[in-house]
Amino acid sequence: MSQTWNQHVVKKENKALVLETIQEKAPISRASIAQVTGLNKGTVSSLVSELIDEKLINESGTGESSGGRRPVMLLLNERAGYTISVDLGVKSILGVLTDLRGNIINEKRIRFQNDNVDEVLHLLYTLISELKLNAPTSEYGIVGIGVGVPGVVTTEGEILLAPNLGWKKVPLRKMLAEHYQVPITVENEANAGAYGEKVYGVGQFSTELVYASVSVGIGVGLILDGKLYKGLRGFSGELGHMTIEKDGVDCRCGNKGCWELYASEKALIEQAEKKGYKAASVEHIVEAANNGESKAIKLLEQLGDYLGVGITNIIHIFNPEQVVVGNTLQLAENYIMPAIERRIEKNAIGFNKNDVQLNVAKLKKHSTVMGMAAFNIEKFFKSSENEIMPN
Ligand SMILES: [Zn+2]
Repeated sequence: MSQTWNQHVVKKENKALVLETIQEKAPISRASIAQVTGLNKGTVSSLVSELIDEKLINESGTGESSGGRRPVMLLLNERAGYTISVDLGVKSILGVLTDLRGNIINEKRIRFQNDNVDEVLHLLYTLISELKLNAPTSEYGIVGIGVGVPGVVTTEGEILLAPNLGWKKVPLRKMLAEHYQVPITVENEANAGAYGEKVYGVGQFSTELVYASVSVGIGVGLILDGKLYKGLRGFSGELGHMTIEKDGVDCRCGNKGCWELYASEKALIEQAEKKGYKAASVEHIVEAANNGESKAIKLLEQLGDYLGVGITNIIHIFNPEQVVVGNTLQLAENYIMPAIERRIEKNAIGFNKNDVQLNVAKLKKHSTVMGMAAFNIEKFFKSSENEIMPN
């Protein structure tokens, strides 16, 4: 049977839809897939057969019968391939090997001091290669490598600027593609974190979610209408540089009084050192607060208050269902979350305030790597029909 190009495109889309439905709702029968997708049963059956031949799904057991013959249930073959998903942070690299359902199979972390591009890249390649070696044998092998970075990333995967790493114009996607012959994704870490929480974390049932990644700096990832919002070229969410004090402290971005100068890990540590804490870290300050030191408690509450100022602005712009606070500062959740809530209560307009839930990231340190895993898996499922050309 010959297919026109259009028929081919429709078939490819339908197949991706069937696979996506199995991924989300497995175990599921062919009849239920037809019901959920609106495709007719014959179409579903033939697409399911192809997916079974391609080892992307399995038939398993039997489902609940509504009287007649028990239907055969379909499951995703999550061991058909693996992803390597990385969070390239300011002082450490966290990498995970996941299966196609996002289960973590292996995890590695490398800490570093020097921000030199070549040295950090060398560590990144080492980590990726180690994870690759740990992947079990599978039909498709490594299906994608994804790296989340703390900086401005173009839609082509070039890091234009990663201020806290001191990097400028690093074409990371291209560099990784020269090393590894698999699809590569490079994304801003806050965007990835937002997506990780949306797919696997606290935001699974939210279509309007704002994820604030509070670490050395502040980045914001936006899920709007159920999708990651990236702006024209991928630069959205640079809210760490919204002005909250018009004649405030100078920021290296050229502006004054940026949010991250008052509400980030860096701000906390600077303030702590002014108050006499030596070589302070977030862990150290939280521990002091837990021991009842009022100086430490006050520092964390003040930081939470500043976070609340920025989050109130964000709430007024987006009317989100959830604001999720992630990355390093979630360690201080017992002190910062109540302070954020008090500031929202005080400053936010009622009808906006009433809608919003404030949460800590459910995936903890894994929000970004899990977002990268979700991107890798999605890309693979969308591309895995490429080999079926019209005949
Ligand atoms: Zn700034």
